[in-house]
Amino acid sequence: MAFKKATFITSAPSIRECPEESIPEFCFAGRSNVGKSSLINKITNKKRLARTSNTPGKTQQMNYYLIDEEFYLVDLPGFGFAKVPKKERDRWGKDIKQYLLQRNTLRLILHLVDSRHNPTGLDQEFFYWMASKQKPFAVLLTKSDKLSTNKLAQSEKKVREVLSEMNIEVPVIPCSADTGKGVKEIQSLITEFMEY
Ligand code: GDP
Repeated sequence: MAFKKATFITSAPSIRECPEESIPEFCFAGRSNVGKSSLINKITNKKRLARTSNTPGKTQQMNYYLIDEEFYLVDLPGFGFAKVPKKERDRWGKDIKQYLLQRNTLRLILHLVDSRHNPTGLDQEFFYWMASKQKPFAVLLTKSDKLSTNKLAQSEKKVREVLSEMNIEVPVIPCSADTGKGVKEIQSLITEFMEY
């Protein structure tokens, strides 16, 4: 189901500043520059809802977007950006984990991985951590337009192998903010998890 209305609500530097827990929410996690903002714009069909940039590591807050007055999409700060001092990176990690663990209205975590690269150590740690905490998540393989059909299939296979080695069974969706590939599947997944 296509989403009709999308409005920016707030940028929260930490869980304390997040909106009151009320409606369901779905968050987007992943490395800086993985394509979170672009995908949020594509899913909501708004060109400039989320800020996109060529400078990784800029979005350091949790950005809340209200969709159709029914649920929130939350753009989490990108992790693993080398140019940010380690201390600051660790603090983000802590804040994000606190949000993921404590936010009762969180229904599903959408974890983005660049389809051109194998999941990094950090991605794998994150898969393992989410599974061990029994947090529902899905993997979105971004920028699929940058790969040939064959290469994309290989990349998807690799991610599925990594997950299955950890005994994790979650949806893996190749997608592109450029072509719109995968957008319908992501919207359906969100709609499905609204019910949980
Ligand atoms: P974020 O830091 O994760 O929010 O990443 P952005 O959405 O700002 O995207 C980072 C860069 O990747 C930008 O230059 C985007 O134009 C580019 N990008 C994002 N998604 C796609 C995509 O699906 N296809 C292509 N070709 N480029 C993309």
